Amino acid sequence: MSAPYLPYGRQVIEADDLAAVAEALQADFLTTGPRVAAFEHAFARAVGARHAIACANGTAALHLAIMALGLKPGEVCIVPAITFLATANCVRYQGGEVIFADVDPKTGLMTPESLGRAIDKAEGKRLRAVLPVHFAGNPAPLPTLRALAEAAGAVVVEDACHGLGTGMDFGSGPERIGDCRHSAMATFSFHPVKTIACGEGGMVTTEDPVLAERLARLRSHGMVRDPECFTNTSLGRDADGTANPWYYEMAELGYNYRLPDILCALGLSQLSKLDRFCQRRRALAEIYRTQMAALAPWVQLIAPPPGSDPALHLMVALIDFAGLGTSRAKLMQTLSRQGIGTQVHYVPVHHQPYYRDRYGHTDLPGADQFYSQCLSLPLFASMTDRDPVRVVRALADGLGLAA
Ligand SMILES: *Cc1c(COP(=O)(O)O)cnc(C)c1O
Repeated sequence: MSAPYLPYGRQVIEADDLAAVAEALQADFLTTGPRVAAFEHAFARAVGARHAIACANGTAALHLAIMALGLKPGEVCIVPAITFLATANCVRYQGGEVIFADVDPKTGLMTPESLGRAIDKAEGKRLRAVLPVHFAGNPAPLPTLRALAEAAGAVVVEDACHGLGTGMDFGSGPERIGDCRHSAMATFSFHPVKTIACGEGGMVTTEDPVLAERLARLRSHGMVRDPECFTNTSLGRDADGTANPWYYEMAELGYNYRLPDILCALGLSQLSKLDRFCQRRRALAEIYRTQMAALAPWVQLIAPPPGSDPALHLMVALIDFAGLGTSRAKLMQTLSRQGIGTQVHYVPVHHQPYYRDRYGHTDLPGADQFYSQCLSLPLFASMTDRDPVRVVRALADGLGLAA
């Protein structure tokens, strides 16, 4: 029997997940039902935030966050160059402009220095938000990033799509990604490769009740049904002042970014396993680290920042392809033939033709160096203890490093 194919990431769906979805499908509400609020409450509790707003996907979560800030055309947001497209695109959806920050070539994370340089580039423009990404699940240095952002008149919005389950201590006690202690909002994705899966799904967390209300409104067309919020009293109320039961009002432009009850059922069921999934990811990461030690200095795993306890989303190795005289494409093909899927996270966003056409060439050497060496290896909760051993062996073979 040949070994099973190992993708770089995948969902883990179990019998109780299926049962939860089947139950939701047979209930009265397929779209906005009781499981939406239940998922939001459970998620808020899981990450330690006051509010959580479920939405269609991680991209919608970012777009809602940027809309909730009231970003206006021409205003600027800072985004690290090593991230998924959506972190930058959400700014453009609102007509905002993106300044790309460099990253630490050893971690892929935005640093205080790289943020400082990006802030300098924003001089003369209105800077509204900084969007650090907890790349691979390692926490960005939020307190320092926030201090710099605030000094420049901006807020922090965390793209926490990789960070669910990560804990850290920045020196003032234990924190969790998504608790928004240093940010206005944090956004999550439940795409199948992420730590928990809905198929498509997203969440925004915040401590601010005003932002929470606005996020919920923007998620559903900008509509309100609460008579207290009506501004048009002649349409909204009867002659005697009673609110009209059919009436709803739209004060600002929103979208249909709702997450249906069916998917919230899956999200709730998956969330109940978050601790187990994260423990498994941590255990697998440990095996990778032990096995990989023999391949130093040619291959190195990105290191968790001091004081962090990441639940890694990606197992990213940095490989000295130039020094080894081989290419990443060749290695990926060799591994693929042995049933090992790998991926590159990410093509630096500032090199995308859309952004290059808009902003010209941006020189970000940290991102370029990171990009030239990174390769994401299989990591998901249903891998066995033997799987990382097999991956590292194949990697050593493929690189000509086998003992
Ligand atoms: C997955 C991801 C997104 C987008 O999430 P979707 O649910 O696919 O829309 C955004 N940012 C980062 C960093 C991601 O990993």
